[in-house]
Amino acid sequence: MRQSVISDNLHRIQQRLTGTAARLVAVTKTHPVERLREAYEAGARIFGENRVQEMAAKQPELPTDVEWHLIGHLQTNKVKYIAPFVHTIQSIDSLKLLLEVERQAAKHNRVIKGLLQFHIADEETKTGLTLAEAEEILQSAEFRSLQHVRLAGVMGIATNTPNEDQLRREFRQLRGYFDKLKALYFAEDESFREISMGMSSDYELALREGSTLIRVGSAIFGSR
Ligand SMILES: *Cc1c(COP(=O)(O)O)cnc(C)c1O
Repeated sequence: MRQSVISDNLHRIQQRLTGTAARLVAVTKTHPVERLREAYEAGARIFGENRVQEMAAKQPELPTDVEWHLIGHLQTNKVKYIAPFVHTIQSIDSLKLLLEVERQAAKHNRVIKGLLQFHIADEETKTGLTLAEAEEILQSAEFRSLQHVRLAGVMGIATNTPNEDQLRREFRQLRGYFDKLKALYFAEDESFREISMGMSSDYELALREGSTLIRVGSAIFGSR
């Protein structure tokens, strides 16, 4: 897409977020570094990538005030490649992964934020935790010992459907998980506050259901 189109798209979405507490994650996967620079010039500061190698290759090419969010499944053996710079891992789906993030972040003397990814879609392929699995993690002694990874909220990917009732139901479910975990485990913890939900086709709906982080790719950069 032409630069003016990218900045127009970004500004339209930023405009929509004015007056809300929500922020935009510009999802840049598959797009070349020049497009990321254009988005940066137009004001984007949070970039989302779903693959470790791609994110690690792009990161040195962008200014250091970019917040890099990993939004795709993360294998424990790949945490080390992003630990020096990643701001938030939105796809935390096991205690094992949390423990490895702790280990790698400690090596770099950093604190990495994490979001618990929940399964909310009615599609088998979309991964994520159940509420029971998340609570098992949060109740474990190992979780309480973590010092270099801080849970900052929840993330979910809704079903790929135009059915607004279903989308609303799934977003409400994620919001319900957030509220429950907040009350039970993070009532005193101000940094647990993010609900990452909503993509190009459904971010309006997600915002109305309380999203604090929308993850938007194709509505900014065009189709992949
Ligand atoms: C690709 C991706 C997005 C963005 O999708 P668009 O439909 O292009 O906005 C959001 N979240 C996740 C987890 C993704 O993988």
